[in-house]
Amino acid sequence: MDNATRLQYLEAMGIDVWVPRAAADDQQAPDAIAEPTDNWEALQAEVAQCTKCDLCKTRTQTVFGSGNKNADWMFIGEAPGQSEDLQGLPFVGKAGQLLTEMLRAIDLDREQVFITNVVKCRPPANRDPKPIEIETCKPYLLRQLALIKPKIIVVLGRVAAQALLNTDEPIGKLRGKIHALNDTPVVVVYHPAYLLRSLLDKRKAWADLKLAMQTVKNIKG
Ligand code: URA
Ligand code: SF4
Repeated sequence: MDNATRLQYLEAMGIDVWVPRAAADDQQAPDAIAEPTDNWEALQAEVAQCTKCDLCKTRTQTVFGSGNKNADWMFIGEAPGQSEDLQGLPFVGKAGQLLTEMLRAIDLDREQVFITNVVKCRPPANRDPKPIEIETCKPYLLRQLALIKPKIIVVLGRVAAQALLNTDEPIGKLRGKIHALNDTPVVVVYHPAYLLRSLLDKRKAWADLKLAMQTVKNIKG
């Protein structure tokens, strides 16, 4: 094999043959990467027009999320329901009212935090989003996360928690501790729609919200 062919093979395998590692690191000086590569408006426009999965066929509109794009707190649910699909806003139905109360209990209001879902379009008849839909939509959430840079992520319910933490563990095992997503601390809390049916677990949800609050306090130092 001649040298040019060998280099092509190495390049095709993703092996960087042209620039020695140290030189490549030099080129990544902070100034060189400070250029913003993503922005909120572009992301919003992309989501609004997205047809990457089948949920686009049955939605009324996408639900990007609402609140403060510089928030310290990000709340992530599963998927829009009927009210959310009609209004284009997250957590505006009955579960949303309880979420608003849960926020108030920890001295936050909806405008202060950012609220969104793992998938941005309503699954028909409120079925769980399918793994392929979650995987297809997740990059949008990760871009929201990278732009917001919250101090804490509160994940609401089993489906969102399992999707974001890449696990099959039941919610009873995921709640009550601190996880991480791209270096941001994550606390899992029972979904407000579930809490509406299971009042006994409200106490645990309160404990988890306090855990999230304490985690934010510790970061602030
Ligand atoms: N349930 C969710 O998970 N998200 C919403 O936006 C509404 C209800
Ligand atoms: Fe696009 Fe997400 Fe809607 Fe699927 S759920 S169409 S990936 S915005």
